[in-house]
Amino acid sequence: MAKPIDMSFDTKVIHAGEPDSKIEGAVSIPIFQSSTFEYAGQTDYNELKYIRLNNTPNHIALHKKLAALEGAEKALVTSSGMSAITTALLTFLKSGDHLLAHNTLYGGTADYVKHDLPKYGIEVDFFNAGNPGDWASKVQPNTKVIYVETITNPLIDVLALDEVVTLAKAHGLISMIDNTFASPVLFSPIQFGFDISLHSATKYLNGHTDIVAGAIIGNEPHMAKITSTLNHLGGSLDPHACYLMHRGMKTLSIRMERQCKNAMAIAKFLDGHPKVTSVNFPGLESNPSHEHAKAFLCGFGAMVSFEVEGGVAEADMVMGRLQYPICTASLGGVESLVTRPVQTSHSLLNDEELSKAGISKSLIRYSVGIESGDDLITDLKQALEG
Ligand SMILES: *Cc1c(COP(=O)(O)O)cnc(C)c1O
Repeated sequence: MAKPIDMSFDTKVIHAGEPDSKIEGAVSIPIFQSSTFEYAGQTDYNELKYIRLNNTPNHIALHKKLAALEGAEKALVTSSGMSAITTALLTFLKSGDHLLAHNTLYGGTADYVKHDLPKYGIEVDFFNAGNPGDWASKVQPNTKVIYVETITNPLIDVLALDEVVTLAKAHGLISMIDNTFASPVLFSPIQFGFDISLHSATKYLNGHTDIVAGAIIGNEPHMAKITSTLNHLGGSLDPHACYLMHRGMKTLSIRMERQCKNAMAIAKFLDGHPKVTSVNFPGLESNPSHEHAKAFLCGFGAMVSFEVEGGVAEADMVMGRLQYPICTASLGGVESLVTRPVQTSHSLLNDEELSKAGISKSLIRYSVGIESGDDLITDLKQALEG
């Protein structure tokens, strides 16, 4: 019997993209650890079966699953999130072009666009995410790409995503969005009107803190151009890592459901605690991003950041007393993680850049895992009151 066409998201996570006929009957797709495959009469270089060309059965299954999840025509997996981001940017920008990006990007992306792109003669300007009126004035005749993130790091803001799409369409810009923090569960960029969706699959997509991977999702003909750039730059994902990512993605829906629920409970707890001076979580009605999150996303995500009385010294004490979350960078895994972003993800930003972005040195970022929400809150309580 043919598979029903209208699969819901939760069903796509399991069934979309799986090989049409099971390979030797295998329910879980086997790992094709072969760098090259027998020549089968291909006429296009990109069709030759070779790991760097991202077209082994492990790649193809993942590409189809990812495209189905975000309602797009095509997807590619890459060797890391940064590989997805740099490959996408280098596909659409050349010497003499101008990139417009919002001002609180992931640290690695911010550093790349500020310090590496200018070496290729590409100009970059940043806009204040909170002030859409300011964006249009920064578009120049040579602006080619506008770049944003669905949920910003580490302040967990959701900007006016509709205005980004409108601006891009009005000026003929390629719109790119880093959808890592939302994951396909909360937001489908291509359906919303963005051209290119990017992921660090290291985070929620894989979800198990055991590989580094990335993804680029979009429609033809953009994806054909990106495929060619990726095949030249060589940021391909090894089939074994493809397999782990594929396995991890099957639980994406249920992981996100639990993580979002835990994050909401934790944000409410922190919001009501006398030692906590501020909480950043768009699920709180008082949060400035609440309306945007409600309008654009299917949930509020599982990242929370907050500050405690007593500055950096006290923030470090609280983090040191936490029993469950492991203190490190990265996010989106089944286990809770905490970090002070200025020490890790944002350590490349100088003092002026930090203050411009509104990131305090004492800010604690909490990536909420799938543990018992009650246990995580009990732990936070003892750490704050210790
Ligand atoms: C981690 C991260 C990246 C970089 O991804 P890697 O897989 O580490 O290369 C990019 N964007 C966001 C939002 C991230 O959290």
